[in-house]
Amino acid sequence: HAKDAGRNTYRLFDERMNVEAQQVLRLRSHFMAALEAGQFVLHYQPQVSLEDGRMLGVEALVRWQDGERLIAPAEFIPMAESSGLIVPLGQWVLREACRQAALWQPLLDHPLSVAVNISAVQFKRGNLEQTVAEALAHSGLPPQLLELELTETTLLHQTEGVQHTLSRLSELGVRLAIDDFGTGYSSLAYLKRLSVNKLKIDQSFIRHLAEDADDGNIVCAIIEMARKLQLQTLAEGVESQQIAELLRQMGCEQAQGYHFARPQTAARLHATLLAQRQAPAA
Ligand code: C2E
Ligand code: MG
Ligand code: MG
Ligand code: MG
Repeated sequence: HAKDAGRNTYRLFDERMNVEAQQVLRLRSHFMAALEAGQFVLHYQPQVSLEDGRMLGVEALVRWQDGERLIAPAEFIPMAESSGLIVPLGQWVLREACRQAALWQPLLDHPLSVAVNISAVQFKRGNLEQTVAEALAHSGLPPQLLELELTETTLLHQTEGVQHTLSRLSELGVRLAIDDFGTGYSSLAYLKRLSVNKLKIDQSFIRHLAEDADDGNIVCAIIEMARKLQLQTLAEGVESQQIAELLRQMGCEQAQGYHFARPQTAARLHATLLAQRQAPAA
């Protein structure tokens, strides 16, 4: 009977939804306990100059240290966003990244910036400008050494709230980068109107740069446009010397990727910075 079958399907669906809802609830309470227990850690990935290989900055990337298991952001950021838990997590990330970056400055003979990923949800309900101001004040990090990585999606839905937050952030003097550039739906007009400083070219265009002519043309066009708009460019996901060299020839200024360095603990990066100071690159 069609009606019964429908009802049975509905009941099965209902039960499955229940199991899923329970899993989400369990994950949420596990997550909140982890935040309180200090189980989140930041790893830092160097961002280098393609001109001379110097480390100009680092990107802070969050991980969840759940006992022996190190959980990647892809596994918990979506849930943190849909539940709103990204707001307290993001506050912690900003504070920790600024604190750590301020500690590194005296080790270096040039400034090292720190980039922090900001989710669209933090923009909408995070009281972001206050969080950023507090993180800077607590750490003493100069505002121009903090770079916020936003996505095209965040900037596309420009409500009054987003506009307000953006102008307050540029008044603070922090820098803005567009992450995963080229993958979202963007209006190029916002690039000039908003005080964006840098485009991070998404790794999907970089990975096959040596073989794929289309990717080459897209990357060239992005670099050209960025130059005309006086925006910095950084290529994400650079995994080989060949690609680094291609990008340098195209006029890309900075790069980040496994070819240069993987994301690493603060302790490891600290050791690298000390070693560089003792034996600076030629
Ligand atoms: P993203 O901001 O685009 O970060 C770059 C991702 O690419 C990182 O993955 C990094 O480890 C990886 N990566 C770097 N170089 C290479 C390479 O040469 N090859 C390949 N295949 N991958 C490379 P990760 O750490 O797993 O982070 C994934 C995403 O999670 C980030 O993408 C970012 O969108 C998000 N995320 C990370 N930390 C935070 C955070 O604190 N807050 C928020 N809201 N999102 C975060
Ligand atoms: Mg990023
Ligand atoms: Mg990216
Ligand atoms: Mg990404």
